Amino acid sequence: MRFDLVTIFPEFFAGPLDHGIVRRARETGLIDVHMLDLRIFTKDRHRTVDDRPFGGGEGMVLKPQPLFEAVESLLGHSVGDAAAGNALESKTAIVLMSAAGKLFTQNTARRYAGLERVIFICGRYEGVDERVAEHLATEEISIGDFVLSGGELPAMLVLDTVTRLLPGALGNEASSQNESFSGAAAVRGSGSTSPAPRGAGKQDGVLLDFPHYTRPAEFRGWGVPEVLIGGNHAEVAKWRRAAALEKTRRNRPDLLG
Ligand code: SAH
Repeated sequence: MRFDLVTIFPEFFAGPLDHGIVRRARETGLIDVHMLDLRIFTKDRHRTVDDRPFGGGEGMVLKPQPLFEAVESLLGHSVGDAAAGNALESKTAIVLMSAAGKLFTQNTARRYAGLERVIFICGRYEGVDERVAEHLATEEISIGDFVLSGGELPAMLVLDTVTRLLPGALGNEASSQNESFSGAAAVRGSGSTSPAPRGAGKQDGVLLDFPHYTRPAEFRGWGVPEVLIGGNHAEVAKWRRAAALEKTRRNRPDLLG
């Protein structure tokens, strides 16, 4: 799978791409990650990517022209204009990172994991000319109800989430099928056999992961639940279901609907 990051800070990603599962996925060729410096597509001496907002107000806005041309250089063709509409490949998502976007969830990540390519557009300043959202991006995605200073961290977060869902990315495939927000967690947690809902932003009926413990069995006087040491697999499974439900109720009651 190929990821492209359109950004004014290509060097930003050096650290995050170089560790753990994402690093191994790059080394084994499971993912191919390219940074594209937005300033390459500017036409003036100062390599200006931003301009003042029409209508007045604070801050600067990323201009449409460099962003359109950057993405077109990646696609290898024009996305058209107001007169001639654009034809987009269905196996490619062009994702504008935006605090005003649709909320990113594990379901979004699963959908991206089925694509061949995701192109991320990383905003900065007050944001991005709205024509990018309207006529260039195939979707506008937010990683949560808070505002960051740029789209690079949000894009990296999405890239990481998608990568670990790709077959072969994790040592143990069960890990990504048996965790918070996964369908299996819902089945495991509720005793229902119906799969978790797909595609919806809100993930009703999905449970958080159950609590994990490792050695030592006693640490500073705090023990681990007896049942986990007992070796009775059925009892362990029962405890984990109940603990996941309790934790979801405590930390994320919204998930239980
Ligand atoms: N004026 C905008 C915020 C701009 S922040 C607003 O009020 O919505 C600058 C850039 O950071 C955005 O263009 C976007 O690319 C990125 N960004 C900030 N918060 C984000 C979030 N929650 N999710 C995704 N991207 C975000």
